[in-house]
Amino acid sequence: MRLVLLGPPGAGKGTQAYRLAERFEAILIGTGDIFRENVKGDTPLGREAKAYMENGELVPDDVVVRMALERLEQPDAAAGFILDGFPRTLRQAQALEQELSDQDRPLSAALKFVIHDEVAVKRLAGRRTCTRCTRTYNVEFKRPSKENVCDRCGGELVQRPDDREETVRHRLEVYHRDTEPLEFFFWERGLLREVDAEGTEDEVTDRAVEAIADLAEERA
Ligand SMILES: [Zn+2]
Repeated sequence: MRLVLLGPPGAGKGTQAYRLAERFEAILIGTGDIFRENVKGDTPLGREAKAYMENGELVPDDVVVRMALERLEQPDAAAGFILDGFPRTLRQAQALEQELSDQDRPLSAALKFVIHDEVAVKRLAGRRTCTRCTRTYNVEFKRPSKENVCDRCGGELVQRPDDREETVRHRLEVYHRDTEPLEFFFWERGLLREVDAEGTEDEVTDRAVEAIADLAEERA
């Protein structure tokens, strides 16, 4: 199984990536992890990326691409992989496609987790995080038994700056602007499938598995 996952903040993509990796016995490759591994391992690419980050600059496309492609070449990725957070731009998608085609192991599907903006805002802006143990709650969906107090450790619950409503709305705007070309790229290749991401984690996973099976059948 070789998957690319797309979806806005609040769609639960990270959770689904983890669940799908388990289901298909594929490795999960998240861009954040690749960055951390390279920086921590002090690799040439890690040093390059770090220099940009320390200057407050975005790590350029080609550094991101080289990191991701290097990760895909490692033996544990041979059986299958799930990409979460990569590709993020058209150039990255093109580089990925080229590399996978050279290796004769094309993508199985690109899944787009779909959620209404208003639902995403409720999920994210409603989130409260324990200042002591980092457990998360939601003022609407997962309340603590005592307001603003963590059930587990008694710590104080706060809203992280990233979860403030205006920040969430901005992140959603950026997502829509930047990933639409990417969706089109995968759609043109017949790889894009939409998955309704509103519902329980189990429901969403089932829908994703079904979408992958449908696509495989169609392409067989
Ligand atoms: Zn706590």
